[in-house]
Amino acid sequence: MREYGQFIGGEFVDAASGETFETHDPSTGEVVATVARAGTEDVDRALTAARRAFDEGPWPTMHPRERTRLMLRVFDRLAEAQEGIAALETADAGHTMRNSTLFSVPYSNEFWRYLAEAAGSLSYVEPVPRYDFPTAAWEFVERTPFGVCAQIIPWNFPYMMAIWKVAPAIATGNTLVLKPAMETPVTAMELARIVAESDIPPGVVNVIPGPGVPVGEAMVTDRRVDKIAFTGSTEVGRRIMQLASPQVTYATLELGGKSPSIILDDADLDVAVPGALWAMYLHQGQICQAGTRLLVPSSLYDEVTARAVELVEGMTVGSAHDFASDLGPVLNETQFRTIERYIELGKRDGAKLLTGGDRVTGDGLDRGYFVQPTIFGEVDNNMRIAQEEIFGPVLSVIRYDSVDDAVRIANDSIYGLAAGVWSRDIPRALEVVRRLRAGTVWVNDFHLISPAAPFGGFKQSGVGREQGEWGLKGYLETKTVHVSQVPAKDQKFWFGILGL
Ligand code: NAP
Ligand code: MG
Repeated sequence: MREYGQFIGGEFVDAASGETFETHDPSTGEVVATVARAGTEDVDRALTAARRAFDEGPWPTMHPRERTRLMLRVFDRLAEAQEGIAALETADAGHTMRNSTLFSVPYSNEFWRYLAEAAGSLSYVEPVPRYDFPTAAWEFVERTPFGVCAQIIPWNFPYMMAIWKVAPAIATGNTLVLKPAMETPVTAMELARIVAESDIPPGVVNVIPGPGVPVGEAMVTDRRVDKIAFTGSTEVGRRIMQLASPQVTYATLELGGKSPSIILDDADLDVAVPGALWAMYLHQGQICQAGTRLLVPSSLYDEVTARAVELVEGMTVGSAHDFASDLGPVLNETQFRTIERYIELGKRDGAKLLTGGDRVTGDGLDRGYFVQPTIFGEVDNNMRIAQEEIFGPVLSVIRYDSVDDAVRIANDSIYGLAAGVWSRDIPRALEVVRRLRAGTVWVNDFHLISPAAPFGGFKQSGVGREQGEWGLKGYLETKTVHVSQVPAKDQKFWFGILGL
C-alpha cells in the first residue's frame, strides 16, 4: 500500500497532528493509500512556505522561458510516469482504464506542456494606446504574478484538475498551495513527487490533502493568499465567494453544470446519438460539463431514444481496472445514494424510465458502487432531474418542437458551463451556438477542449476562465506604468492646481 505525506516546502512531511486517512478504490472498496491528513496548522506551514518562495525565492522573477524550461523537464517525467499515474487514477478515482490511459492522464499532461510553453512566449509587457491626456506620457502594462494562490479541486478528475491548477499558476511565476479532494488525493501527490524531484524551487508547489472544512476554509480566508482558484460544486463555490469577501481576495470559480446536448433535425444520427452518449457517460457522468440533458426534436424522438437505449444496453459496466469495462463505478456510497435518490425522483415526477435505473452487482462488483447507465424519456425541463446536477450516469431526454423552443429549454438553467449542438448544417448550428448561454459549446462533438482554449462557465457555473492565454493572464495581475514625457517643472500643469 502507498503512503503519502503532505508536500510542504519541497519535502514530504507528516501532518502537524500526526493524523492520516485512507483512500479507497471505488471498484473494490480496497484501501489504495494512507495519506497525511492536513489540518489548519498545516495550512499555516504550507502558506508560510509558499509566501517565502514568492517573496524571497527566485521563481516569480525568473525569466519566463527559464520557468518553461524547468517545467518541460517535469513534463518529460510526467510522460514517462503516464502509465503508472493512469493505473493510480483508476484505483483512486474509478476512471476506467480506457479513460485513464487513453484520455484523462495523457490529455492532462498535454495541458502541462502547452501551458508551460505558452507562458514562456506570453507578452508580459503590453503597450497602451497613446493618449497623452492630460499630458504627454508613455504608458504600458506590465503583467506580474499574483503571488500565493490557494487552489482547491474536486474528486472527479483529480489528476486533470491538479494539472489545470498547478501548471498555469507556476508557469506565470506564482507559488501555490493545492488542496486535493479527500476522496482522491493520490495522483496529485504523484504530481507532487515528480515536482519534488525537479529543479522547481521548494515552496513553489505545496500540496496538502485535508478536508474542505476546516482546511479549505482556512486557505481561502488567510490574508497571505493573493488569489483563490476553486473547482467544485456551485454550493461550495458560493461559500468560497463569501469567505473570500472580507479579504477581497480575487477568486476564480469553476462550478457545476447541467449541460444541454441539442440534436437538430438534420443531424447525422450515426454520430449524434453515440455523441450524446459520449457527452453523458464518460466517467459515469461524473463530469461538470457532462451533457446531462438531451434535447431532441419531437419528429426524431422515437428514433433517437430507441437508438440510444439500444446502444446503452450494449455497454459493459464493470471494474474500472478491466479494459473491457465501458463504464466503471461511481465514487462512493454517498454518490451512489444521491444518484439512487434522483432516479426515484425522476420516476415520481413522471419521467419515463427507458433503461437502467438499478445497481449492478455480482461478478465481483458487490463491494463497489456500480450503476446501470440510465435514460429517462419524456422529461420536462422543470423536473428536478433536469435542473439539478446528479453527477452520475443519468440522462434526461427532453422533446422540443422548434429551434426557438430548444434554445429556450437549453438556457433555462441556473448553470451555463457547456452545451453541444449536433447538425450537418454548420451555419445553422452556429446560429444556435450564438444564442446559447454557455462557456463552451461544441458542434458535432463534446468534452474535447484544447489547452489553447479558455474554459469556464456562464451564470452559476462559475467566474473567470482557465487555460489558454486567457487562463494564463488570469494568474497575472495587471500593472499600469505611466512614464511622464514632460519631466520639467514648467511642463507640469498640476503646479497650478495646488499652487505649488
Ligand atoms: P465539492 O463538494 O464542492 O468539493 C470540491 C472541493 O472543495 C473539495 O476539495 C472539498 O474538500 C472542498 N470543500 C468543500 N467544502 C469546502 C469549504 N467550505 N471551503 C473550502 N473548500 C471546501 O465538489 P465535489 O463533490 O468534490 O466535486 C463535484 C463538483 O465539482 C460538481 O459540482 C462538478 O460539477 C464540479 N466540477 C466543476 C468543474 C469545472 O471545471 N467547472 C470541474 C470538475 C468538477 P473535501 O471534499 O476534500 O472535503
Ligand atoms: Mg465532496
